[in-house]
Amino acid sequence: MKYITDIGKIKWLSEKEKTNLKKVTDRYEFKVNDYYLSLIEWKNKKDPIRRIVIPEDLEMDKWGSYDPSKEKSNLVMPGMQHKYRSTALLLVSGTCGSICRFCFRKRIFIKKGEAGCVNIDKAAAYIKKHKEITNVLLTGGDPLMLPTKKLSEIIGKLRKIKTVQIIRIGTKMPAYNPDRILKDPSFAAMVRKYSEDERKIYFMVHFNHPRELTPKAIKAVNVLIRAGAIMANQTPLLRGINDNVQTMAQLLRKLSFMGVPPYYVFQCRPTLANKDFAVPVEKGYRIFEKAKSYCSGLAKRAKFVMSHASGKIEVVGLTEDRIFFKYHRAKKEIDSSKFIIAKRNPKAYWFDDYKELIRESRLE
Ligand code: SF4
Repeated sequence: MKYITDIGKIKWLSEKEKTNLKKVTDRYEFKVNDYYLSLIEWKNKKDPIRRIVIPEDLEMDKWGSYDPSKEKSNLVMPGMQHKYRSTALLLVSGTCGSICRFCFRKRIFIKKGEAGCVNIDKAAAYIKKHKEITNVLLTGGDPLMLPTKKLSEIIGKLRKIKTVQIIRIGTKMPAYNPDRILKDPSFAAMVRKYSEDERKIYFMVHFNHPRELTPKAIKAVNVLIRAGAIMANQTPLLRGINDNVQTMAQLLRKLSFMGVPPYYVFQCRPTLANKDFAVPVEKGYRIFEKAKSYCSGLAKRAKFVMSHASGKIEVVGLTEDRIFFKYHRAKKEIDSSKFIIAKRNPKAYWFDDYKELIRESRLE
């Protein structure tokens, strides 16, 4: 796989574009590979695949914050978050198969950015002590950037902990570089080894657009399924990429046909420099709901959520003047399943933009 990290080497861009974008890539890391570049329709400057990896100068816009979900407040040690009782999140890699321009962990991809990969022995000791942790999510960056041997060591250590049932691997590699899976048979062997009858390995894959579902990508997903992995997809709803009903419907449908249930469709977090990708909450919810109307029940399993500092807040409905939210996961036990009614705000990009909360109700 050939990686390109210098925007000046992208031959399809004009000299003017390269000079213009250099200031963006001086601030935020740029990385793409030749496979993913081959999916771009260069004649279309607004091509959705192009938008995923090629920067725009709008990225210099000072909107949002480095850590909109306040992930830092969940750190229990460098590279390990424990936000929800049953789930631990481990940052195991500081790089990806290409870098998404809308990445919500952009703070990793800035010059002198947060390194912060976890020490797996220390993390395993913490998890062992905290028996309530049944799920461990490996993330980053992309865990599949690690050599299989290294990843296998990490998973092996976690598998030894009896209380850990599910190991999740968050990855965009089937989209960015399916050969990572296809050309390394030891990877499928590792998945087979650790995906046990009663304790599975889940892959939280990250397809944003149906054109990423190439024959190679589908084949890579199938290798994982045949090795015994359970699949789920998560994607943010992104302006100019999947913020139209037909594209979103096609994505959800195709994923369900392939055996990859859509899991979360995220409201784009207000991360620094991401204004160009953000869609207002209510508009996004409408797109999501309309797209689901073209889908079977199996493709409709996704939830439209905000990964808020206080928990995963699902948008569950709209009326003329009200919006309805429900905590799908809550950081504090007391918020679990809390239902919230707020006055609509078509300009809201995040839960915090809803200033008029009308009613909150908790389960007794
Ligand atoms: S794959 Fe995930 S972590 Fe990597 S750049 Fe994209 S959004 Fe960020």
